[in-house]
Amino acid sequence: MEQLVYNTLANKKEVFKTLEPGKVKLYLCGPTVYDYLHIGNFRGPIVFNMIRNWLEFTGYDVTFAYNYTDVDDKIIKKAQAENVDSRVISERYIKAFEEDFNNLKLKPHEFNPKVTDHIDAIIELIEGILKNGKAYEIDGEVFFSINDFETYGGLSKKKLDDLEAGSRVEVDSRKRNPHDFVLWKPSKENEPAWDSPWGKGRPGWHIECSAMVKAIFGDSIDIHGGGIDLIFPHHENEIAQSEACNCTKYCNYWIHNEFISMGDEKMSKSLGNVITANNFMKTYDGEVLKFLYLNAHYRSRLSVTDEKIRQSVSALYRVYSAKNLAEQVIEKIEATAVESKNFSKELKAFEDKISESMHDDFNTAETISVVFEATRLFNSSLTKKRKSVEDKAIAQSYLKFLDSYGQILALFCEDSSSYLDSLDEMILSLNSISKSEVEKLLADRNEARNNKKWEQSDLIRDQLAQLGVEVLDGSAKGWRSKV
Ligand SMILES: [Zn+2]
Repeated sequence: MEQLVYNTLANKKEVFKTLEPGKVKLYLCGPTVYDYLHIGNFRGPIVFNMIRNWLEFTGYDVTFAYNYTDVDDKIIKKAQAENVDSRVISERYIKAFEEDFNNLKLKPHEFNPKVTDHIDAIIELIEGILKNGKAYEIDGEVFFSINDFETYGGLSKKKLDDLEAGSRVEVDSRKRNPHDFVLWKPSKENEPAWDSPWGKGRPGWHIECSAMVKAIFGDSIDIHGGGIDLIFPHHENEIAQSEACNCTKYCNYWIHNEFISMGDEKMSKSLGNVITANNFMKTYDGEVLKFLYLNAHYRSRLSVTDEKIRQSVSALYRVYSAKNLAEQVIEKIEATAVESKNFSKELKAFEDKISESMHDDFNTAETISVVFEATRLFNSSLTKKRKSVEDKAIAQSYLKFLDSYGQILALFCEDSSSYLDSLDEMILSLNSISKSEVEKLLADRNEARNNKKWEQSDLIRDQLAQLGVEVLDGSAKGWRSKV
């Protein structure tokens, strides 16, 4: 089956073909490390982790680079305010990012380049652009000359004339075109500075990605990713810089993920309107965030609300309950499993459906809905007693299925019973019920039962049911959330 990818450059889905057979060079613009990141910043890492996993699943060998922007006005400003070196700031927030990233349990990237480690590559690239007559220098400042790059605007579909007409960029009389952008600029006092052929200075923002891509992958890559806000000017300028220097196509497929909305009134009340990833992980966890994001198509806008979080938690609960049940069934049946032909056949149909949706521009929303269909089928296929050799085979096949697609999505891979416990607690907190209140009621009920006060015990059971808690006599923990 052909892999279809929505390519911003073509404004449509295209068949995916790599530069080198079987190999994918993937670059995703990373964060500017000057503060804690909010959850929206992680849609890219979660989406592109899934894309990489899927491509690997279908046989590609993927090399993934995700950079840190560690030279930036915002970093410098913060460093000056705290009276420290800007490296102190960037290292602090790289560490914070890494903590969030690890909590998400995504695959590590092969490369996490930093701008400060690539200054030589940046200077070399600017020299190449100058040599090809597509940039000019004035007073230690180097500008890219967009009039000399004919295809400028090809990614964002902006025409130079439109740009001029709607121009709101600051006027700099030294520029040949008001939209010429900075490749290198002199550093002010107390700013990080590097020696260059144009004097002591620092790079403009856009040049870094072009330089790091070239240093890691060479002149051309297969996939360049980022949020849609980066299409213009950042990615447009990356194309201009790289192609002006290398004289060859920079990137074949531009994949952009949509925003998550943060301004909606229905935004999460439990977390406030700006949700740092760090805060989200404390209240919920990485699994919930990944589910929330992948349950929507990466090209659709998503607003994070308490309701959506609640739905994600319940959805995860259903899958993990099935996973837990499957594990128990396998553990309890000693006899060798005997394949259930019906179940295998239906599961195969689900696999085909997933393959179709993932080949069609990575439709994870559809994939997740198929996982739910398979989960329903699993639950309904077991015999009442759950003791037959076929039950064992059904449980094994379901677990294999869940593991295989779970790994692609980076979902459903947690230990089922301990994860159900933590979901129980999330559900209590979503319903504003304290755990100690539940435990107190459970203890009261136990006491009533010990004293054979059945009526009272039933009354407390009803009370717990109203709190969304199901009493499970005989289990060690004694309760589960009702989902
Ligand atoms: Zn970039």
